[in-house]
Amino acid sequence: MLFVEDVKREVPDLTQNRRTGRWWGRCPFHVEATGSFMFDEKSHKFFCLGCGLGGESAEWFRQLELKGRREAAEERRQARQAARRDANPS
Ligand SMILES: [Zn+2]
Repeated sequence: MLFVEDVKREVPDLTQNRRTGRWWGRCPFHVEATGSFMFDEKSHKFFCLGCGLGGESAEWFRQLELKGRREAAEERRQARQAARRDANPS
């Protein structure tokens, strides 16, 4: 099951709506200025109104892993670019 502690690790600005009990914050899976990401403690499910991702803990951790791979690939790409710049100074 997905818990608010798990979500908070990735969504530091998560805040609880006192009326509905739902948690809102900025989505960890797409870039956004205002929070459209929601976590419901009762059903242990997350949902993002911005990018449409959502589900239970299995989907949460799968998406985190995909995000990690995307970021690692981007770092490698930037490192290759930097190495090329060093090899061919203009
Ligand atoms: Zn999103």
